[in-house]
Amino acid sequence: MSEQPLYRLTPAARRQRLAQTANLNQEQLDFLKRQASPMNNELVENYISDYRLPMGVVTDLLVNGRTYLVPMVTEEPSVIAAANNGAKRVRLSGGFTAPKQTHQVIGQVVLVDQPDHHERTKQWLLDHADQLLQVANAARPSMKARGGGARQVKVRELPGYLSVDVYVDVQEAMGANSVNTMAEAVGHFLSDQGFHVLTAILSNLFVGSLQTVTCHVTNEQLATKTMAGSQVAQRIAQLSELAQVDEFRAATHNKGIMNGIDAAVIASGNDWRSVEAGAHAYAADGHPYRGLATWQTDKQGLRGQLTIPLSLGIVGGSIKLSQQSKINYQLSQIHSSAELAAVVASIGLAQNLAALRALATTGIQAGHMQLQYRSLALSVGAKDDEVDAVVAALQKLDHVDRQTAKQALEKIRRE
Ligand code: NDP
Repeated sequence: MSEQPLYRLTPAARRQRLAQTANLNQEQLDFLKRQASPMNNELVENYISDYRLPMGVVTDLLVNGRTYLVPMVTEEPSVIAAANNGAKRVRLSGGFTAPKQTHQVIGQVVLVDQPDHHERTKQWLLDHADQLLQVANAARPSMKARGGGARQVKVRELPGYLSVDVYVDVQEAMGANSVNTMAEAVGHFLSDQGFHVLTAILSNLFVGSLQTVTCHVTNEQLATKTMAGSQVAQRIAQLSELAQVDEFRAATHNKGIMNGIDAAVIASGNDWRSVEAGAHAYAADGHPYRGLATWQTDKQGLRGQLTIPLSLGIVGGSIKLSQQSKINYQLSQIHSSAELAAVVASIGLAQNLAALRALATTGIQAGHMQLQYRSLALSVGAKDDEVDAVVAALQKLDHVDRQTAKQALEKIRRE
């Protein structure tokens, strides 16, 4: 008799089967069981256990005059320390300003259409825009009832295609499923009218949900023991300029921003792949790929600005399903998707400031390595009560790698 497929088994039976296949011992099997939560079996296929990541908080992030505590989930040691550092410098300079912006997601219905038909088809679509909006709203009437829903239809010409972009106000949700339902309804309607519909799905380039955040950082907050604040400001502005003209640098500039944004988005229970896709698409929207945040000097210091597409929800998807997610919202006291977008964008700008200030002064490795030493110590087998001693030993060395970390641990154990 053939084996049952894995998806038909209970999580316990799956673990048992996988333990046999991969030679997991009882201790490993018990670990997977301890980490499992019954509810998550409903969320993903072939569920066996949870994968834990460290969670920390950014304290005192000042946004629009309110101070936030922001939970962040990340495995990268320097991220939360850097976010706190950037947030503190901005708070002491007056805080972040992030005005409420529109929260619309585009449902994209793509028609196969020869370029010489474009004008005629486009005209038909625009003439029937109200009907398309009605079809979209009828597919998800609850969204309109709560004050949102399909708002506008735009048509974009592409080689061989026409994209019918339906802009939907998704209120407090991220909106992917709601908009997909609406886009498919519009797609079926257009098929019935005789159009050749290729696809109907949301776009993750959320140009209807662009969040801008600005801040001013004083020279006093930029200065180091050996460098004047104005000199640090000048270098940060140059690094910012470089990220506008070189995509190699821009990719790393944006990775630094996303370090903070992803960590805050994961802790909020939102879809971070979607945020990543949107951010990078926007960074190359209509121009070569470039840095998302910019910094310019003035007499008193630096002015920073970040604009990033963010469609975030405080309801829907798997948000607030877990106890962890509920606790995170209680910690942050964020009560709307607009507030969440403002806070997340501010974290991104704080993260960028901390990274650029480090680059402009001591270099990125000085702070990073202190924190990486802790992971290195753990990775070579140091126990909790040995980590400090290993880190102290590594700090005295000119050259640090796994080998030297192992040797340091062995020496500590011998002594
Ligand atoms: P849901 O499908 O869960 O829809 C939102 C839910 O929230 C609806 O049930 C809605 O109720 C309810 N709701 C309650 N109050 C409100 C309110 N004030 N405003 C808005 N909705 C409210 O989630 P989303 O549509 O947000 O989709 C997000 C999920 O889709 C994520 O899990 C994401 O990973 C996934 N996804 C992402 C894709 C992508 O490309 N990024 C693609 C496909 C899925 P009601 O039913 O009454 O409207």
